[in-house]
Amino acid sequence: MEMDSIDCVSFSDGMDEDEIQHHTLHPHNHSEFSSNKPRNGGANSNNVMGATAISPATSVHELLECPVCTNSMYPPIHQCHNGHTLCSTCKTRVHNRCPTCRQELGDIRCLALEKVAESLELPCKYYSLGCPEIFPYYSKLKHETVCNFRPYNCPYAGSECSVVGDIPFLVAHLRDDHKVDMHTGCTFNHRYVKSNPREVENATWMLTVFHCFGQYFCLHFEAFQLGMAPVYMAFLRFMGDENEARNYSYSLEVGANGRKLIWEGTPRSIRDSHRKVRDSHDGLIIQRNMALFFSGGDKKELKLRVTGRIWKEQQNPDAGVCIPNLCN
Ligand SMILES: [Zn+2]
Ligand SMILES: [Zn+2]
Ligand SMILES: [Zn+2]
Ligand SMILES: [Zn+2]
Repeated sequence: MEMDSIDCVSFSDGMDEDEIQHHTLHPHNHSEFSSNKPRNGGANSNNVMGATAISPATSVHELLECPVCTNSMYPPIHQCHNGHTLCSTCKTRVHNRCPTCRQELGDIRCLALEKVAESLELPCKYYSLGCPEIFPYYSKLKHETVCNFRPYNCPYAGSECSVVGDIPFLVAHLRDDHKVDMHTGCTFNHRYVKSNPREVENATWMLTVFHCFGQYFCLHFEAFQLGMAPVYMAFLRFMGDENEARNYSYSLEVGANGRKLIWEGTPRSIRDSHRKVRDSHDGLIIQRNMALFFSGGDKKELKLRVTGRIWKEQQNPDAGVCIPNLCN
């Protein structure tokens, strides 16, 4: 996953953010954070945003916004002789001139603001997407790179697509912008035909989206070079997070002439890039000779019939899971 690096991060003073424990919001505060933007402040309770009408945390949060690039500032935070602050990224760019007053910048660190930041607790930036958690200022950023409510990247392979969004948005995007085939149901029967099976270099690939159990799944089929050998691969990705993906299993079958290959697995989350799943070989892999054998005929054309099924597993959230590539 590529995180969008919009914050000026510089932990150069040895601050150990691991030592700061994050914690979830107290239940009675949930609705306040899910319905209020933090900048509006929490005016009616003793929550972390402060009990006064103008929340102190909110105004301090604004102070922690770099006036030059508007990103959140992290240590070392700098200031000029007149007290104008700016982030360490901007400091390297302004040629020793304060962008606010044009005076010489010098090398003054704003320790007071850094200390104040340390005392802050703020909601995750994806609170409007449903994340109920709040974090100490310096560990918020770390959480946001792994937050379950962060938007997903477009799962389409074969082109660089920078579209991000939630699942309903991405389903519509795949259908409308990438013209991906959409199917309803938990079984499938697909024929992949390729007129020149020798051309694997250009990585032929196909994507089909399945809708079942109220969820969406991406079935990928593609040809690529594995070492010296051209292979075909089919695998399923779940449009959602990994912990939910574990609730499902799928099987794929390909064969002809009395032989068949069967793959059974757990769909991978689209949080894992298409390439990562492919490179971990977490799917049905068909050697080209076998693929041509299954194709029958004169072996000039690839004709593979892949059948498959998706099913829901008994829920067992404590079950250990071993994802290839992560466990060895
Ligand atoms: Zn800045
Ligand atoms: Zn200044
Ligand atoms: Zn979050
Ligand atoms: Zn896309």
